[in-house]
Amino acid sequence: MDNLKPIPVGEAQPRRSRQSTVRWGDRVVTVGGAAPVRVQSMTNTDTVDAIGTAIQVKELALAGSELVRITVNTPEAAQAVPHVRDQLDRMGIDVPLIGDFHYNGHRLLSDFPDCARALSKYRINPGNVGKGLKRDRQFGQMIEAAMKWDKPVRIGVNWGSLDQELLADLMDQNSRRSEPWEARQVMYEALISSAIGSAQRAQDMGLNGDQIMLSCKVSGVQDLIAVYRELARRCDYALHLGLTEAGMATKGTVASTAALSVLLQEGIGDTIRVSLTPQPGEARTQEVVIATEILQAMGLRKFVPSVTACPGCGRTTSVTFQELAKQIDDFLRAQMPVWRARYPGVESLKVAVMGCIVNGPGESKHADIGISLPGTGEAPAAPVFIDGEKRLTLRGESIAHEFQDIVERYIENRFGASAAAAMTEQQA
Ligand code: SF4
Repeated sequence: MDNLKPIPVGEAQPRRSRQSTVRWGDRVVTVGGAAPVRVQSMTNTDTVDAIGTAIQVKELALAGSELVRITVNTPEAAQAVPHVRDQLDRMGIDVPLIGDFHYNGHRLLSDFPDCARALSKYRINPGNVGKGLKRDRQFGQMIEAAMKWDKPVRIGVNWGSLDQELLADLMDQNSRRSEPWEARQVMYEALISSAIGSAQRAQDMGLNGDQIMLSCKVSGVQDLIAVYRELARRCDYALHLGLTEAGMATKGTVASTAALSVLLQEGIGDTIRVSLTPQPGEARTQEVVIATEILQAMGLRKFVPSVTACPGCGRTTSVTFQELAKQIDDFLRAQMPVWRARYPGVESLKVAVMGCIVNGPGESKHADIGISLPGTGEAPAAPVFIDGEKRLTLRGESIAHEFQDIVERYIENRFGASAAAAMTEQQA
């Protein structure tokens, strides 16, 4: 035993990028450096529908998205952007908007100055800015717009729209190697060269390096990990991380979580997006929920109180505990837009909803508030644990509502204004 050393506490490695800022009005979102890993999302509305777009941006922001990207693909969309911004400002939503440009961004940014001003950041895809001689000129026009309006840019490379001339050139060089690389390795190199080369051109034109973020998105987990490890090794720009075209539902969620978790653990990634294909009828906010859950599960951020619930087994033959776990989770999540302001720190709350006596009391004691529901054959009583102590036992049909009330009272007592005032008095 004496030879044993304490096992290091698990935590992600520190990040190593330079810091950028994205602003709208008084709202300043820092990205990279020591800033928390930020959550981004993207609307799927037609931007021309300014009201519909503003409503979806609001939903994404309230779900926890700190930056929201919107499509700017036509003159009509560019004209609508200031109206989207105005509508959000009227609703009290100050989340910065990022304009997503492809093919005609150079023209839209110069023809629609109100659009250029209303956006807080421009996404530029170097594979889609033009071909041949036009490419450098049109890329340069977008960088000039960023400098004119003092906006940061994300140079976002995507393997689905990779600069074909660069790729062909690298393929050609590869064919002359005595030991040619695999085609996939040439593609990695093309992605990284396109991103870093474009960033360098932007800096040569005078854009500050702190105003540049990079991304190199691919749709394979191992490809993303390989590309970002190398990208992070070669540059210190803030990095936007995400698996592109991750897919639907379980597949998209698992693939994004697997890829992002490995990289975030290594200190790589300053903003993230989970690019889910929504299922019919599914809320767009689902991609934000998953992104926040990834960061929260890894201990990098706290967004909502966490609900620990057991999976259930042969000891839980009713669905009572599943319903209670879902009800509490939905309740806490729904309250967060209001609670964030009213109860500072509430996002660190831990609630446990357990299915029987085997692990129920133990897990409930580890939480701030926990309830251990009766398993099959147990007495019909649900002990409630608060701050590690058993405080009361609930019985009957209204256990769920009573437990919800207890949680609400606990939050008011611990995080409410009177708790904050008592704390200030103690410290004085
Ligand atoms: S706590 Fe009880 S109900 Fe839940 S998984 Fe464990 S044994 Fe099953």
